[in-house]
Amino acid sequence: MKTIGVIGGMSWESSAEYYRLLNRYAKARLGGHHNARSLMATVDFAEVEALQRAGDWDALGAQMAQAAQHLERGGADIVLLATNTMHRVCGAIEATIGVPFLHIADPTGRALRAAGVTRAGLLGTRYTMEQDFYVGRLRDVHGIEAIVPDDAGRADVHRIIYDELCHGKVAEESRRVYQRVIDDLKARGAQAVILGCTEITLLIGKEDSALPVFDTTALHAQAAVDWAIGAT
Ligand code: GLU
Repeated sequence: MKTIGVIGGMSWESSAEYYRLLNRYAKARLGGHHNARSLMATVDFAEVEALQRAGDWDALGAQMAQAAQHLERGGADIVLLATNTMHRVCGAIEATIGVPFLHIADPTGRALRAAGVTRAGLLGTRYTMEQDFYVGRLRDVHGIEAIVPDDAGRADVHRIIYDELCHGKVAEESRRVYQRVIDDLKARGAQAVILGCTEITLLIGKEDSALPVFDTTALHAQAAVDWAIGAT
């Protein structure tokens, strides 16, 4: 089994979920006492969040590249970035490591296509919903049109991620807010909804959603395990 390197801490609430899922999938695939071989390089989210707000993506790219180098030097055979938003700077990571980088949008795009979805709602941070790095990859690499909530919906989805989910707070009222946003995306023609932020899985499961749910955290972790055990 190969070793999976994870750049985590954005936030650690979702990194903990990655750790659980990587090990759970490895056990499901291999049985017995198997778990995933892994390393995690955890950055300080306070610094990351401040740099995001300042729009200093160059500094963020340098930080992510450094974390990826630590993982590679520590023996990682593949690198995962455990946040959708920070894929804005995945080029800085890919340019600095010699091992493969598994982009979070790719297992998600493949799962959507396998389910016959070509028009999907996208929930995530404002950066993910409003900039082109994520929507563009879904479109250009996977042929999927991502539609995002209206301005008020994007503000709510973003606020709940940073003010609640990244602090481990899961509130029923916020679940209802997300449900209303998903209902609206459905009315606008979305065939499915992408949980395009690694914390949303803490709030929304398939039973909470009027649309089929594609959870980037789970799909990313599963794809990494499949790669590590040589199943892909
Ligand atoms: N984990 C989140 C994501 O998947 C947001 C936190 C961050 O800004 O990295 O986008």
